Amino acid sequence: MNTLTGQGIRIRVGAATDVGRVRAHNEDCYLAENLLWGVADGMGGHAAGEVASRIGVDTVGALAYRHPLRPDDLLGAIRDANARILASGSTPETEGMGTTFAGLAVVEAAGADHWCVVNVGDSRVYRLIGNRMSQITHDHSEVRELLDAGLITPAEAARHPMRNIITRSLGTDPAPTPDVWVFPPSRGERFLLCTDGLTNEVGERDLMLALRTDADPQIIAEGLVDAAVRNGGRDNVTVVVVAVDTDEDDEEEADTSPRSALNPN
Ligand code: MG
Repeated sequence: MNTLTGQGIRIRVGAATDVGRVRAHNEDCYLAENLLWGVADGMGGHAAGEVASRIGVDTVGALAYRHPLRPDDLLGAIRDANARILASGSTPETEGMGTTFAGLAVVEAAGADHWCVVNVGDSRVYRLIGNRMSQITHDHSEVRELLDAGLITPAEAARHPMRNIITRSLGTDPAPTPDVWVFPPSRGERFLLCTDGLTNEVGERDLMLALRTDADPQIIAEGLVDAAVRNGGRDNVTVVVVAVDTDEDDEEEADTSPRSALNPN
């Protein structure tokens, strides 16, 4: 499989978001437009996070019908979103607002369709192939840095008091560096994009079990959001599920693990 836009390919998408049980506003939002998907988790007082996440999603979403779309276009849109959030954050109500952004797009690279994943912050993109799910993105968070340094265990990370502190976001830094991955498609793969309101409430094994069912992606997305709310709903929760179906059932598969990062970390 080397195309995502040709005949015999069907991309199905589901998306859902919920304010949760504790927060007064939903400062998350999502993007699901043509071949471009994303989630954004806004932060800031007086509901300013809603403004920041909306700017992030709208600015990147303006690329939805650009063809060909290239990884540099996504990076440019993320830079633009950052500048727009910074420029909007000059009133007392919006000062200090920011947002994460984790996105997935079909891009053209080396003359063929590829997936492109971009990330700033601690929202996540997971990829499922067969029964194996892996997190593509790397959280930009204090807890991730402590984990990487071997100073805490994964169990400690899950309840660490600093688990909500992120080290990169749009709108809080003049030039935050997004991580980018570009990799070829693989047969039967699925993606899960989500904010931390999901991953703080639902374990990765349950995410994998939900993602690998044959259910429609909209049912999966709503089911995961419901599970997060049921498990506590302590944060806004947002999920986008992207599933690729193809007629090419007997094609040989190459190793397409996403290690061809443009700027690996
Ligand atoms: Mg959150």
